[in-house]
Amino acid sequence: MTLTERLRTLAEATRPPFPLAELHCHVEGTASPALARSQARRYGVEIDDLLDGERYRWSDFGSFLRAYDRVATLFRSEDDYRRLAASYLSDIGRAGALYAELFVSPDHAASAGLDPTAYVRALASGAAEAEAETGIVSRLVVVGIRHLGPDAVEAAARFAVRSPHPDIAGFGLAGDERVGRPADFARAFAIAGEAGLGLTAHAGEFAGPAAIAETLDALKVTRLGHGVRAIEDASLMARLQAERITLELCPTSNVALGLYAAPSDHPLKRLRDAGLRLTVSSDDPPFFGTSLTEEYAFTERHGFTEAQRLALTRTAIEAAFVDEATRQRLLERLAVLAISLGAPGASD
Ligand SMILES: [Zn+2]
Repeated sequence: MTLTERLRTLAEATRPPFPLAELHCHVEGTASPALARSQARRYGVEIDDLLDGERYRWSDFGSFLRAYDRVATLFRSEDDYRRLAASYLSDIGRAGALYAELFVSPDHAASAGLDPTAYVRALASGAAEAEAETGIVSRLVVVGIRHLGPDAVEAAARFAVRSPHPDIAGFGLAGDERVGRPADFARAFAIAGEAGLGLTAHAGEFAGPAAIAETLDALKVTRLGHGVRAIEDASLMARLQAERITLELCPTSNVALGLYAAPSDHPLKRLRDAGLRLTVSSDDPPFFGTSLTEEYAFTERHGFTEAQRLALTRTAIEAAFVDEATRQRLLERLAVLAISLGAPGASD
């Protein structure tokens, strides 16, 4: 091996992982099958029918939600949730994630028999462990579950406001988008917004562009969970660009849930070419056989250059629900990493 080859090998080996950031991930949806098996043994629960190797078994959105709920019920104590958050955030931190937000649901905590305040405390404690180990910064976004109805969503907002924890930085709407209208949840979002929480909502995944426009009008969000079906309406695309709305895209999730027949059908590139603010996330990684790293690889296969992939991370940090000092610190870390990757243009 020549000296140049040796130096190249050394440079490769010491090259930092590509800097990633994730805005859209449901905490119970991060549980790896290995962790779920260990939890199932702990509680004497049978989950063999739920597992297909290293993935969860489901066939449509309804059975996906039921599988998700079954996995969620395997987490019952503060220690379970601490372990869940620490395990996921450490994994993606080691893979290069600088920042992550986790969607957390007081309704899931309650159905697991855990006080939601203890649930948040446990998740924050797991997040602190992951930060100590890998440097990953994270925040929690409390979500209301849409198919439980407006009262439950309002209760989730009141919980987020009433039980402030420094890690709770946002409020969102998850669950089945086909249930109810965005305006049904306006009160919940007004409560959360007035308390200074960042706002996001799943929209434009199973429902079309009209639901995205209604969500923007009624809920005053700065980000959309998915929002991918905006591609079907040119005037809505122009509105998203003008209002600088950030899309939390989860491409593999969209393909797994049948929005697009094949990865090549995903409109990722057209959304980028229209100048929209894009980020990528894994949504519920082991349910969809994906990871945060794989979502970035998905964009690379769709022609995103290294600078464009760094821009995904930068956009995520710009749209993150963090205080300005933390945002600046994260942006500086990203800029340094971009230079060490040899991509100074990334900060353009
Ligand atoms: Zn989601």
